[in-house]
Amino acid sequence: MQIYENYSVKEHNTFMMDVRCARFVCVEHPDEVRQLAEHGVFQSEHFILGGGSNVLFTQDYTGTIIHPVFKGMEVLEETEDDVLLRVAAGEEWKQLQQYCLQHQLYGIENLIGIPGLVGSAPVQNIGAYGVEVKDTIAHVKGLRTDTLQPFALSNAQCNFGYRDSIFKHELKHKCFITHVIFRLSKHEHYTLTYKALSQELDRCNLQPSLQNITDCILRVRNSKLPDISKIGCAGSFFQNPIVPQAQYEQLLLTTPDLVSYPADNGRVKLSAGQLIEKAGWKGRRNGDAGVYDKQALVLVNYGMATPQEIVSLCQQVIDDVNKLFGVTLAPEVNIL
Ligand SMILES: Cc1cc2nc3c(=O)[nH]c(=O)nc-3n(C[C@H](O)[C@H](O)[C@H](O)COP(=O)(O)OP(=O)(O)OC[C@H]3O[C@@H](n4cnc5c(N)ncnc54)[C@H](O)[C@@H]3O)c2cc1C
Repeated sequence: MQIYENYSVKEHNTFMMDVRCARFVCVEHPDEVRQLAEHGVFQSEHFILGGGSNVLFTQDYTGTIIHPVFKGMEVLEETEDDVLLRVAAGEEWKQLQQYCLQHQLYGIENLIGIPGLVGSAPVQNIGAYGVEVKDTIAHVKGLRTDTLQPFALSNAQCNFGYRDSIFKHELKHKCFITHVIFRLSKHEHYTLTYKALSQELDRCNLQPSLQNITDCILRVRNSKLPDISKIGCAGSFFQNPIVPQAQYEQLLLTTPDLVSYPADNGRVKLSAGQLIEKAGWKGRRNGDAGVYDKQALVLVNYGMATPQEIVSLCQQVIDDVNKLFGVTLAPEVNIL
């Protein structure tokens, strides 16, 4: 493992916040997680950082940041129908997508373009264009950092929900995910329920295929999301709020064009982006902290924004949406 003291994490978070941590540890092999645990690292202040594309550092971090860099993909089992693939936590999500494209494996093609590492994907059950990663996860394996016991959770035990899982609740700060085991289909099948995707296929006169879906989604994403090599952000800053049916019907009286999707237990998921836009925030900026002009769900750092400026912008957006709709937006991003 590599250990750095008083280390800047600017290159390790897509918001490009130039804060420092007391210690930064690159874990090069899954066995090193146990070594760290035996040295008590998980008993003191620590944070496991993947690609840093879902975090906002608001100040220097006084503890240890642990960053998996171990990679690897291994087929554990193959049938006529599917492949059980074990992927190491430090593998980049885009490498897994590339592997699936090369080997004609189906199930995660709609998740193309999501930054980050594979070990983080189950944490918030990444999702896009009508697909969630939970639908392809068989098991999640790792080490409990509180008990030092290895764990292997089945899909059902992960309690996946919308941008949610056990890793955000009971197991928050209590486990290090070392591997994710995916079950990927060998049969061609696609999820084309998202209008933006089917429209792009139609517009380009393309039949659904792994390559065509990949290309279309990347085009749509690039037209709406900032290029993180130039503009800092962490993707959707807020979760889409889920409200009871009665509240939704009430809101429709004043906002008939409210975008909605069915959610669990008869509830309704609203579009946080639309609410922010209607509250007048789309494209507005306070200095270098802004609400992206092509997608109101994304808060951005145009260059020199401080963490406090992003936090203050976030609060103003929450307050204004609340005043207008009585709906409280919750950040999707981990604020540290
Ligand atoms: C431009 C852009 C677009 C995005 N689009 C989407 C999208 O379409 N859909 C979507 O769902 N998300 C999206 N995101 C958010 C983000 O990319 C995902 O949440 C991604 O899975 C985060 O991966 P990461 O490796 O960067 O995780 P990090 O931000 O480093 O960490 C995220 C969380 O996972 C925990 N964690 C990381 N690794 C481990 C591990 N090995 N063991 C235990 N806990 C761990 C961290 O402690 C933290 O709580 C987007 C972000 C950006 C910047």
